[in-house]
Amino acid sequence: MSNCQNCGAVLPVNSSVCEYCDTRNFVDFKSSTASSTLGPSQRKCALCSTLMETINVGSESKQLPIEKCNHCHSLFFDNGEVELMLEMHSGDPTSINRQRLHELCELAMESGERKAYIPCPVCAQLMNRQLFGVKSSVVVDICHDHGLFFEPGEIRHLIEWKRAGGQILDKNTKASAPKERPRKTSSSHEFEDYDEGGFSGGRNGGFLGMALEMFFDILD
Ligand SMILES: [Zn+2]
Ligand SMILES: [Zn+2]
Ligand SMILES: [Zn+2]
Repeated sequence: MSNCQNCGAVLPVNSSVCEYCDTRNFVDFKSSTASSTLGPSQRKCALCSTLMETINVGSESKQLPIEKCNHCHSLFFDNGEVELMLEMHSGDPTSINRQRLHELCELAMESGERKAYIPCPVCAQLMNRQLFGVKSSVVVDICHDHGLFFEPGEIRHLIEWKRAGGQILDKNTKASAPKERPRKTSSSHEFEDYDEGGFSGGRNGGFLGMALEMFFDILD
């Protein structure tokens, strides 16, 4: 649970916008981390075109610079940086908390989905949309050459996902069930668009259909 940085009211669980004063809060990292600005960036936010800023989301001794939009609070990670960030912020869970993963999925379902494709902050090519991991319920915008773009709240969600063992489940799932054909379920329609973008060759390429299927099947 977090509070509005402007008026102190408790924020809704699945939104960074205060219901009382309409302030858009930065919820992905604690303010002590978020305040460590490193300088302006030449990269443009994929959502609102504002020039982004480089911030440090690592520690003082081990910096992890990423881009943040100060207008809409979206984040951009170069390839490989999300994994580093998750290691630093989620610790190293050894078990899977299915109840917690289930709760996280339910929360994400309520917050709705954006359909449009948006441009990579580095090369301006339209990015693909891809489920980050089994039961993560975070559909990330990805440029295979440059990195991953996250809307406000999605990184917070991924940190919780990994803490609950989501990444272990993701690895187990991908290792144990390689080539089943995805079966469309009634509840998967909102993700159908993401099948079209040519995901082969990506880090998680080829697993998308299965990942989506597992995502819904494991809920029970
Ligand atoms: Zn407020
Ligand atoms: Zn923005
Ligand atoms: Zn790119």
